[in-house]
Amino acid sequence: MQFAEIPGLTNLKQRLLHSVKENRIPHAQLFVGPEGSAALPLVIAFAQYVACKNRTEEDSCGVCGSCIKFKKLIHPDLHFSIPVNWEKVTTELNTLPFLEKWRAEVLKNPYLGIDQWVDAIDIGNKQPFISNYEAHEIIKRLGFKAFESEYKFMVIWLPEKMRVEGANRILKTLEEPPEKTIIFLVCQHPDELLATILSRTQLMKVPAYTASEAAQVLHAQSGLPMDRCTMAAEVAEGNLAQARWMLENSEEADQQLELFRNWMLFCYGFQVGDLLKITDQFAKEGREWQKGFFAYALYMIRQTMLMNHQPQLNRLTTAERSFLQKFSRFFHPGNYSVISGYINEASAHIERNGHPKIVFLDTSLQISDVFRKEKYRATNPT
Ligand SMILES: [Zn+2]
Repeated sequence: MQFAEIPGLTNLKQRLLHSVKENRIPHAQLFVGPEGSAALPLVIAFAQYVACKNRTEEDSCGVCGSCIKFKKLIHPDLHFSIPVNWEKVTTELNTLPFLEKWRAEVLKNPYLGIDQWVDAIDIGNKQPFISNYEAHEIIKRLGFKAFESEYKFMVIWLPEKMRVEGANRILKTLEEPPEKTIIFLVCQHPDELLATILSRTQLMKVPAYTASEAAQVLHAQSGLPMDRCTMAAEVAEGNLAQARWMLENSEEADQQLELFRNWMLFCYGFQVGDLLKITDQFAKEGREWQKGFFAYALYMIRQTMLMNHQPQLNRLTTAERSFLQKFSRFFHPGNYSVISGYINEASAHIERNGHPKIVFLDTSLQISDVFRKEKYRATNPT
């Protein structure tokens, strides 16, 4: 991975390049970015840059022996520690048995999210985590001398999935890593990290991509037509993990429109029986689908606002347009942000393992309530 493959983020890249030039590379760096941002690709590009035998002022060379190994993620000084799980209970759960799969997934999509990773390792509803045993392994692996590069690199992906005991165990290593070692924590939810970890690391904030930057990446990754990439990037609001999932599962799109249409109509009509039925339909899907559905719902609601104010900017399929032309009159600036807020919250709950049935039904009732109050005010003007 080279910096050139990552669009935008010029300031961040400059900061990283500068640290190498000045020979002041922080030994423990916390990259915080939302799901589908460039946090992980940046870390890999940076490690590749540091290890490159022939780097320029701006980027790694991409062709030296070290870069070739980085490209395949098989450089012996590039270590990963990632959340995992498996069926049988064991105290020795650690990253190594999953490494091959991890490399394959990251090579396929370095912007992957936790749900794609869960799908890849096929652990169903089990939660992946970084075990206490793994913390011990991290320390052990960093105890070796670098094999080929001047530095060795440890990338801990989603350190918020680390057990407290394990997190405590690596504190000392974060504070004083072995010589010529750089530890990268790639984190989505810094509020879930121990304060003692935060205070021992140098913070790098990675912003979410804009939809147009995300579309560029999707287009380069998939070779699909630009308009499809733009559409997916806009629906996912620049979250590349989600946008990519949508592109790969485009047959789901019709199903999502159907559910969205019913959802809004049942909410509007306060049809509780029907809402319960579609709650079951929603709950039987995977978490990635559910998050995709909420992203889609937010997108459609944004489109209602455009339809009301700047219809020429709408990007819709014929079926979507025909529904929204009828339904957009129920949305206005007064309820738009409230309803979008409920859906955003619902999506965050799903991301944090909220119970899908409860989340969906609760959100449905909140939205119904907004419409009900409006209908009441319309028929009982003060
Ligand atoms: Zn190189």
